[in-house]
Amino acid sequence: MTLLISFSIEKMKYQLLFVNKKSKMKVYLLLFLIPLLSFTQMNEFDTKYLKNLNEKEKEIIVNKGTERPFSGEFDNFFKDGIYVCKACDTPLYHSNSKFNSNCGWPSFDDEIKGATIKIEDNSLGMKRIEICCANCKGHLGHVFYGEKYTEKNTRHCVNSLSLKFIKK
Ligand SMILES: [Zn+2]
Repeated sequence: MTLLISFSIEKMKYQLLFVNKKSKMKVYLLLFLIPLLSFTQMNEFDTKYLKNLNEKEKEIIVNKGTERPFSGEFDNFFKDGIYVCKACDTPLYHSNSKFNSNCGWPSFDDEIKGATIKIEDNSLGMKRIEICCANCKGHLGHVFYGEKYTEKNTRHCVNSLSLKFIKK
């Protein structure tokens, strides 16, 4: 994305040489708006944590992908400990909030207070709530309410690739 933007800016600078004053103003306005937009996009994931991730993890955490159901390391995993963000090590979930939903991804009915942020996600023709790490903004998965799996009536459906497990 950044590469594409810098390429477009170069192209526009080049074109600037050939346009009149009035359209120059428009181009300057665009030159101002494009870096602003790219800044907003970069703000979504704190790029200083990129070095902690391999390509598969980047696909999930940065590009908001989803790992295949029943494929993740923690899907069928119930040891005592704490789950932290794969990118920035922020503690996200205690193992005592993990439950077996049989949905194909690790499921938690509660988070460590304030560990995630929720964002409305209307992609793929569905109305869902995306969850991201509150610290680095890395994508974790989605949260669903009212399914009655547990007393807390909440299911954080999280990609294993977004998590790191630390044994108690
Ligand atoms: Zn994080």
